[in-house]
Amino acid sequence: MNDYKIVIDPGHGGSDPGASGNGLVEKNLTLNISRYIYNRLRELGVPVSITRNDDSTLSPTERVNKILGFYGSDPNVIVISNHINAGGGDGAEVIYALRNSSRFADLIGNELQKEGQNFRKAYQRRLPSNSSKDYYFIHRNTGNTEPVIIEYGFLDSSKDDVNQLKNNYENLAEGVVRAILEYIGYDYQPSTSDLYVVKKGDSLWSIGKKYGLSVDEIKRLNSLTSNMLSIGQTLKLSGDPITNNDIYIVKNGDTLYSIAARYGISVDDLKNYNNLSSNSLSVGQQLYIPTGQDASDLIGTDYDTYVVQPGDSLFSIANTYNTSVSNLRDINNLTSDTLVVGQQLLVPINEDIVDTSITNFTNYRVLTGDTLYSIAARSGVTVDELKSINNLTSNNLSVGQVLKIPVRETTVYTVKRGDTLYSIAREYNTSIDEIMKKNNLTSNLLSIGQQIIL
Ligand SMILES: [Zn+2]
Repeated sequence: MNDYKIVIDPGHGGSDPGASGNGLVEKNLTLNISRYIYNRLRELGVPVSITRNDDSTLSPTERVNKILGFYGSDPNVIVISNHINAGGGDGAEVIYALRNSSRFADLIGNELQKEGQNFRKAYQRRLPSNSSKDYYFIHRNTGNTEPVIIEYGFLDSSKDDVNQLKNNYENLAEGVVRAILEYIGYDYQPSTSDLYVVKKGDSLWSIGKKYGLSVDEIKRLNSLTSNMLSIGQTLKLSGDPITNNDIYIVKNGDTLYSIAARYGISVDDLKNYNNLSSNSLSVGQQLYIPTGQDASDLIGTDYDTYVVQPGDSLFSIANTYNTSVSNLRDINNLTSDTLVVGQQLLVPINEDIVDTSITNFTNYRVLTGDTLYSIAARSGVTVDELKSINNLTSNNLSVGQVLKIPVRETTVYTVKRGDTLYSIAREYNTSIDEIMKKNNLTSNLLSIGQQIIL
């Protein structure tokens, strides 16, 4: 271990807002970035202090006194002064003291680049009236410490800086954390709140699958506006993805299917939200139920694997799956539009698309006690399908109301010796979940002679 100590300095504050524009105020953003770095360093066991942890005003003298008051004026004291630029440029800059080399500033620049920000330069700036002195007081008046000013981007940039500062600042801050650790010789560890470092071949979908999160949730957690990932980028995978949770307590006779149907979500989503690896429930068990805005996002966001056939193009596949070429590129992290026969592509399955296997409808008169969920569950359709077939805008039903109920073409299969749900699902090109749902099965066990609707 070494005796490095870190001081985090959020630029400006209180009556000094710094630069502002495009909905950004420098003093607020520098505080957010600083708190992030401060908390991460504490988490990693690095000695760290912060000059302000609220919106207070600090004069240059007060700031310097605070910095030197924490750990003294030692070369092993690293000062990170966080700032946001203005002036219409684009990209990050690091300014280091005349007494230091550029090594630390260069490391910071590298890490900011890994987080998707372009790095303009690492440089020193001299006082015009005395070129042996630093221009900025944070360099000039901080003794033998090693201070850097980090300008994370231009809040008045015409390029991508505004988006970087608004939506990616935590990742930029994480980049600075990595640079600090590398410089002081500590081992870097992703956050215990599951910071995930993007690897070659990853997509939002594949990462989500691994962590039980939907693509939309990962995007929301990380304030991402596109599905593009870059290698080395860090993603937050926990925190509080479900903003509006309901807890459901499992009762006698409940199944995942009945609970999912009741809440208008899929069994897979229910399992993912609750990290369930099997379909069995126990009475009294608590389940998180995604509700509100988040629940509607979940419905209709699922993916399937499509194997590229001769003659396929991204355009034709996009058409088939009612999506766009750019969405397909994003989901699959494609860098070119060239497809190879046999290549596997993830394609979105939009549950809003009415199932093409539905060929016929029957009329159903709503009875007392019926709900869209109960009718949907009985009919083997989703609440959304039922609503779209009947042009319903709300979930309210009135007794006597007539609903169109889809009749699917069904096959009745009689279970033979040696059959498993898996073998049947394979043979009939369906899934175990689908069969269980259609037949209200609560376990995977089959008996010979049992009839199954496919
Ligand atoms: Zn500033």
